[in-house]
Amino acid sequence: MSKGTPSKGKHNKRSHVLCRRCGKRAFHIRKRECSACGYGSSSKLQTYAWQRRTLNGVRTK
Ligand SMILES: [Zn+2]
Repeated sequence: MSKGTPSKGKHNKRSHVLCRRCGKRAFHIRKRECSACGYGSSSKLQTYAWQRRTLNGVRTK
């Protein structure tokens, strides 16, 4: 099996569906958790420190 265009036809199983909380297509069906907001695994919205804007290149807390 090759990795090029012919193999793309096999990509017909969807691992992510629309998330009920954030509305993105990031809810993983088998894991039952959203990769964008963390719905399913956590009651709080998933956030990372690197998502915050840095001010003048200084990482603020
Ligand atoms: Zn979500």
